[in-house]
Amino acid sequence: MSTCPGCGLVRPDDPAAVPADGLDASAECWAVYGEVTARAISEPRLAPWHQLAVDAYAAQHPLASAKPIRTAFALIGLLLAVERGASGFEVRAAHKRLADARRDWPAFARPAALDEVRLTVAEVRAATDPAAHIAALQTWAAAVWAAWRPAAGDAVAGLLEPLR
Ligand SMILES: [Zn+2]
Repeated sequence: MSTCPGCGLVRPDDPAAVPADGLDASAECWAVYGEVTARAISEPRLAPWHQLAVDAYAAQHPLASAKPIRTAFALIGLLLAVERGASGFEVRAAHKRLADARRDWPAFARPAALDEVRLTVAEVRAATDPAAHIAALQTWAAAVWAAWRPAAGDAVAGLLEPLR
């Protein structure tokens, strides 16, 4: 069995699974995320929601050696979507504007509270229809953001200043 260092997901070992790209995730967990991504690409109703999966997954699997923008953008996406109801398209537009406005991004250290989050991308994968997929995604993303918020919420909100 493999245990994901980011989210704690336990999965059978899969020698064919490929390593996660720039994230602190097991290859087996990354494969589950790949299935969620494939479903989002094939189901138009999920398109406005997929950015939330991208950001929740990155925020739950931060890699200290990765470029700081990776975690910063994930947290920006979670704040906009979870607290302000932004769609995935709106989050992508915000990412683009912020990327144009800033070059150096602060590093965000993984908060200990993230270890208490029991929800993973596997709950989204387990959904059997688009409505359940979206509901599971929202619950998971909100839990990940709640773990980050006490330590990083104010700093992340500050990064949004150029959007005003
Ligand atoms: Zn994981």
